[in-house]
Amino acid sequence: MMLKMTKYLQKCKECNRYGLQNPESKCRYCGGQLINPKPPKFSLTDKYAKYRLKYFKEEFDKKFK
Ligand SMILES: [Zn+2]
Repeated sequence: MMLKMTKYLQKCKECNRYGLQNPESKCRYCGGQLINPKPPKFSLTDKYAKYRLKYFKEEFDKKFK
């Protein structure tokens, strides 16, 4: 749950404050542009997590069928 929340956290380019992602990508403090603070390798980890989840689901299905 906590990890899912951080997915929507973005950092303001202007004042460096964190804010929730919104359609305009605008900082609620100064109106600056919100950017994704995470380096690209984080999305790679997400990708592998998805594969791991798929693997576990398949193993789970095998055991309980
Ligand atoms: Zn700002």
